[in-house]
Amino acid sequence: MVVVVGAGATGLGVAWDLSLRGLAVTVIEQGDLAHGTSGRFHGLLHSGARYAVRDPNAARECIQENRILRRIAAGSIEAVGGYFVKTPASPDDYGEGWLSAMEATGIPVARVSREVLRAAVPELHPDVEGGYWVPDGVIHGFPLLFRLQKAIEAHGGSVRRHTRLLQVEAGSDGVRRVRVGSASGAEWLGCDALVNAAGPWAGEVSRLFDDRLPMRLSRGVMIIFAERKLAHVVNRLAPPGDGDILVPHDRVTIWGTTDEPTESAAAKPPRPSETRKLLALGRDLFPDMENWRALRAFCGVRPLYQPETAADSRHVTRDFTVIDHARRGGPAGVVSVVGGKWVTFRLMAEKAGDVVTSYLGGGAPSLTAETPLPPLREQAAERQREPWLCECEQAGEWDLAAWPGATLGEWRTRTWFSMGPCQGTFCVHRVANRRLTTANLAEVDAEEAALRSEREQGMQGALWGDNAREWALSQSVRRQTLGERTP
Ligand SMILES: Cc1cc2nc3c(=O)[nH]c(=O)nc-3n(C[C@H](O)[C@H](O)[C@H](O)COP(=O)(O)OP(=O)(O)OC[C@H]3O[C@@H](n4cnc5c(N)ncnc54)[C@H](O)[C@@H]3O)c2cc1C
Repeated sequence: MVVVVGAGATGLGVAWDLSLRGLAVTVIEQGDLAHGTSGRFHGLLHSGARYAVRDPNAARECIQENRILRRIAAGSIEAVGGYFVKTPASPDDYGEGWLSAMEATGIPVARVSREVLRAAVPELHPDVEGGYWVPDGVIHGFPLLFRLQKAIEAHGGSVRRHTRLLQVEAGSDGVRRVRVGSASGAEWLGCDALVNAAGPWAGEVSRLFDDRLPMRLSRGVMIIFAERKLAHVVNRLAPPGDGDILVPHDRVTIWGTTDEPTESAAAKPPRPSETRKLLALGRDLFPDMENWRALRAFCGVRPLYQPETAADSRHVTRDFTVIDHARRGGPAGVVSVVGGKWVTFRLMAEKAGDVVTSYLGGGAPSLTAETPLPPLREQAAERQREPWLCECEQAGEWDLAAWPGATLGEWRTRTWFSMGPCQGTFCVHRVANRRLTTANLAEVDAEEAALRSEREQGMQGALWGDNAREWALSQSVRRQTLGERTP
């Protein structure tokens, strides 16, 4: 049995890789799927163009995986393409070096005139000077994680959510068993190999087997706007910095991000000062951005790995590292996989899977690059006939029924209900009513309060303009129409 810690993109990717190679795998996840950074990212299917100058290895991996994911994860990828845009503030000497780096890393690029650019992205500032097209895209992270879970389970593996790794027992012959805890208590699981794919918690997990990993965590803030404001990704043609990427993601648009060292693996909510600052950085690209209807702001924590010191986290590589702990004096059979990007999760999993299979003595090669992920569910005619429970995101009974017994929080990430412009004001109580068929009133009340508080936290990070008015409306509906007591 191989135990994988973490049900983010990396851990699920590793479990999928190993289960396709015929190994028995169990994933242990302390929260729900996407509890960590994989549910809190920018949504960009990197072409690698952003890293071409400073991090060419990471750039090559991005373009390779960008192509593979379009094949194996179709349906969870939007192949929208992206632009790198030159503004009057772009450093004059950057473009030339960037173009040479693009050639050296094999990332396709095409020059576009100012006129073509402005026709493709009318929201751009009239002063932009032109730019380049690159094969950027969009990743739909949540459904892709659920598809990975489905693929793992179809191959006999299991994903144990709300279960935390507590202890690792290893002897001279390597790792033997692990102790895990959940609401139903603690238990020991037999374990022939252990994979630490705990993202920002990888340092904490490595303490459990006495080979501490040097992680450098960095938080990034993003703002979600209520509409799909553009058809393509827009990047600033400049060295990576704060506020330089705008991603159209399904029905919304995500602007980001920032880069600030943090000690906390859990993502704390953005401070209003951070979001105001991030918003102001958009002015020279999108002059009207400050008037766009914001929906919410959120934050993610980058699980960067840093064996040597670097001046700041922007200079820590976005490449990934697979660590065979036996080679550094740690226990045999324990492998960590850290750093990297969402877009490179499959390659990270393949490399970690190679180390695990070689340790266990098997020779099966990785099959993930050629194996399409299963779809979540086929569309059905009844979906079209049902009234929506959540109008903003068009989720109805049919969508909820696909996840029987789910909590309100689980239905949110799986059906997308409450994620739209009203942020749950008009749908949470309707969906809570459906939840009463599988849970008691006290449980449903607690889930509803948790969901509303989570939605409010995100709204409060972007509380200006129409979003502030929406928030006031939401308070009014809850307290006056629905008669909720003020906390
Ligand atoms: C602001 C920001 C923007 C980003 N944008 C992009 C982007 O646009 N494109 C891109 O490709 N990449 C992007 N990234 C990077 C990408 O999101 C991450 O590299 C990736 O999601 C990391 O996935 P992971 O599985 O390694 O970690 P995580 O998703 O954090 O998964 C680790 C999991 O381990 C679990 N865990 C931890 N400890 C334990 C324990 N003791 N027991 C059980 N479970 C445990 C956690 O609950 C968590 O679910 C971004 C990152 C940030 C922060």
